[in-house]
Amino acid sequence: MPGFEIFGDEEKKEVQDVLDNGVLMRYGFDPMRNGHHKALELEKDLADRMQTKYAQVVSSGTAALTVALACAEIGSGDEVIMPTFTFVASFEAILSVGAVPVLCDIDDTLTLDPKAVEATITTKTKAIMPVHMCGSMADLSALKAICEKHNLILLEDACQAIGGTYDNKPLGSYGDLGCFSFDFVKTVTCGEGGGIVTNSKKFADRAHKYQDHGHDHVGNDRGAESHPFLGYNYRLSELNAAVGIAQLRKLDHTISVQERNYTILRNALKTIPEVTFRRVPVGGVESYAFLTLFLPSEDLARNTHKALGNYGVDACFYWYDNNWHYYKKWEHLLDQKSLGKFSQEIQTGLQKNNKTFDASDAWMGRSISCLIKLGWSETEVNERASKMVEAIKSVL
Ligand SMILES: *Cc1c(COP(=O)(O)O)cnc(C)c1O
Repeated sequence: MPGFEIFGDEEKKEVQDVLDNGVLMRYGFDPMRNGHHKALELEKDLADRMQTKYAQVVSSGTAALTVALACAEIGSGDEVIMPTFTFVASFEAILSVGAVPVLCDIDDTLTLDPKAVEATITTKTKAIMPVHMCGSMADLSALKAICEKHNLILLEDACQAIGGTYDNKPLGSYGDLGCFSFDFVKTVTCGEGGGIVTNSKKFADRAHKYQDHGHDHVGNDRGAESHPFLGYNYRLSELNAAVGIAQLRKLDHTISVQERNYTILRNALKTIPEVTFRRVPVGGVESYAFLTLFLPSEDLARNTHKALGNYGVDACFYWYDNNWHYYKKWEHLLDQKSLGKFSQEIQTGLQKNNKTFDASDAWMGRSISCLIKLGWSETEVNERASKMVEAIKSVL
């Protein structure tokens, strides 16, 4: 997955353009820029690649989620349904706009279970936020149907699945809004950065203002711009955008290398009868950023994870015990440990999450995800496949 594995002259050239003219800010400074608008260019490329009408780049994936929620007018006391398996950014973004993150069970896709989502909806629910973890997606048509029935926003977190598709549409482009991260370990990286895609002119128009202090970007005098509503600074710098441009151009190549490496590993592992794989919803094509498998029990999964390490197979994750990605280890959220005081409404709302999620535990306890790297040669992947088979068989 990490795009930094394939940094080359292309990234250097784009960065050099920025350093040569010295303009690191995406707005203004027209006489100095020599025509370079890297953030704007990245937005055009992202919209093209994702087949959406609009794209807005911002300073991180977390910022992308925050801006997307704000654009959908989600605020104080609104509830947003999110999965138990994701990155902490999901609830951070929801809380930062004053809304309540409500956790919901996942199924064997390791993303939101549509039936559990429906059971979680209340009169306060405003949005559903599926997270396409580890390169594969939620059942988007089922979630869209639920959103249409209950008049909710569908906000896709495609931060870990850029390049995957659903119903022949790029992940991120299917919902009302889609978010990407270009942080240091993502498939497309620019150090720190993120993007929002949408086909809604209304959302796109709000996004460019909100991520730049509410400025309306009308005219050439920054000081004279009006500010129709409050915003913040979630801008992306020209240096980061420059790296992103070169990286995004390599995405199709990246996905094809990931698919090759994933397929070699999967074909080797599927010869072991006890090993099964995460379900990909009908109509979905993964980005192949990870290969995720299930062992028959939690004990076997834990032991397999250890054995993989002992056999020298790195970059495999047992998310069930991970502090960043699974609800059981989010004690700061569950115990409401914030630096400032939460409103009464949020305190009460968050209490909903103090319960068990047995279906999530059952799937996550048995799952192991292996990162797919770009730098592996075919020989290296084949060697890795043999080591994985040996390690798993040693446990079984
Ligand atoms: C990385 C990531 C984010 C946040 O992105 P940052 O750019 O690191 O802020 C959000 N959601 C998921 C699923 C991620 O993997």
